[in-house]
Amino acid sequence: MADRPVVLIVGGGYVGLYTALRLQKRLSHGRAEVIVVDPQPHMTYQPFLPEAAAGSVEPRHVVVPLRRTLPRCRVVTGAVTDLSHADRRARIAPLVGEPYELRYDVLVMAAGSVARTLPIPGLAEHGIGFKNVGEAIYLRNHVLARLDAASSTDDPEVRRRALTFTFVGGGYAGVEAFAELEDMAHYAITHYYPRLSPADMRWVLVEAMGRILPEVDLDMAAWTVKQLTARGMDVRLNTRLESVSDCHVRLSDGDEFDSDTLVWTAGTKPNPMLAETDLPVDGRGRVLCEATLQVQGLPDAWSAGDLAAVPDLTKEDPGATTAPNAQHAVRQAKRLADNIVLTLRGEQPVPYRHAYAGSVASLGLHKGVAQVYGVKLKGWPAWFMHRTYHVSRVPTFNRKARVVADWTMAALFRREIISLGQLQDPRREFVQAANTGRTGALPPPSAEDKAQSGSLRAG
Ligand SMILES: Cc1cc2nc3c(=O)[nH]c(=O)nc-3n(C[C@H](O)[C@H](O)[C@H](O)COP(=O)(O)OP(=O)(O)OC[C@H]3O[C@@H](n4cnc5c(N)ncnc54)[C@H](O)[C@@H]3O)c2cc1C
Repeated sequence: MADRPVVLIVGGGYVGLYTALRLQKRLSHGRAEVIVVDPQPHMTYQPFLPEAAAGSVEPRHVVVPLRRTLPRCRVVTGAVTDLSHADRRARIAPLVGEPYELRYDVLVMAAGSVARTLPIPGLAEHGIGFKNVGEAIYLRNHVLARLDAASSTDDPEVRRRALTFTFVGGGYAGVEAFAELEDMAHYAITHYYPRLSPADMRWVLVEAMGRILPEVDLDMAAWTVKQLTARGMDVRLNTRLESVSDCHVRLSDGDEFDSDTLVWTAGTKPNPMLAETDLPVDGRGRVLCEATLQVQGLPDAWSAGDLAAVPDLTKEDPGATTAPNAQHAVRQAKRLADNIVLTLRGEQPVPYRHAYAGSVASLGLHKGVAQVYGVKLKGWPAWFMHRTYHVSRVPTFNRKARVVADWTMAALFRREIISLGQLQDPRREFVQAANTGRTGALPPPSAEDKAQSGSLRAG
């Protein structure tokens, strides 16, 4: 290996950022060059996305800028499109310009997961996921814009469609997004929309299994369904989305209705870019790892997080692997960085071992559900635990301070309820003005104009 090895970290999310932070701290200056490649210039703290969508936290504060946080690493904004570990080469597609190759000595594969979709007619055209900050901002603006649309029309069909919000997938990401956005819409209608009533809204959560929140015990999941139902929300278990066309949603239980909103949160799968690498993968497409987080058979390649199959040494089943969640991602990253430092010194890496502590989920302001180390909490205490846990975990003091400031401002002054719908299509007005100047007449409505007047992707 070179005197000053190049460590390439693919992905600057949970695993990538925490690994780079640790290497930056633990490797003396000049000992190695650390390069972090990510299409986004920031890490996203995904557990805060539901609160960002609901307006409790400013979206900018749930992302951590890579260049500012990693001053001693080289940050490349681009995507790794394919990689040959045998040749120690990765191909990078930068934001602009031609793709180029980058040589490295040590690889950390941390490109995470993508939404796991199904070939459901209309889903790709009309649905939206909930994994990044853009989607959180979009949904917040979209839901508030639907309230504006419903309150400004006398057509009962348009109003019903605008006020029907459909979510598919009852894991923690889906349930939190569903409950937080309903809480925000409920608050907005009660305070600022005298022509609407919360009872006019229809919030439907569709889940294919017989339960939601597989991360907590069945009794806690059943309690959550009861709470959501008591809030007037419609939780459909053992039900699948069959199709979507225009704004019409069809479910497997025979029900069908119009809905301007379709959010898909039905699970994730490992980043498909892995298929363009020579790293070994299991039947689910995850990188096969040893407990030391080394890729099987490749001592200079490491992986962790959502796309890695890491043996779970706390389970009796020898085939068990760690679950794809932030709790493991953060801890694995620290172990992984320490193991890289050990191997660079010629020492043996240490196996990763962590028993899952439990889950916390927020269900709106002052509402939550939690199960941590066997302790079950419901309502306000669970919500409080969710906030204290996540603020302690969000990287950097800067982000912690900003998130706490957001919560304090929201508690002192009311929740911010404003739809910045223009963000969804900022050039529309300008293009319209420019076209009008050219022809002397108003142009016909564009696809975006039609979308604004109401469709599943309208803003
Ligand atoms: C809404 C939501 C809420 C969640 N809440 C919780 C929670 O409460 N508790 C919990 O434990 N977990 C939670 N999770 C899960 C948790 O966020 C993930 O398990 C964790 O982010 C996984 O870390 P990772 O580093 O593997 O992937 P990520 O954090 O997703 O990072 C992957 C990175 O790779 C980058 N990337 C993608 N493709 C490429 C490429 N080709 N080249 C280079 N870079 C690439 C991406 O831009 C991204 O920055 C939540 C997830 C979501 C979506």
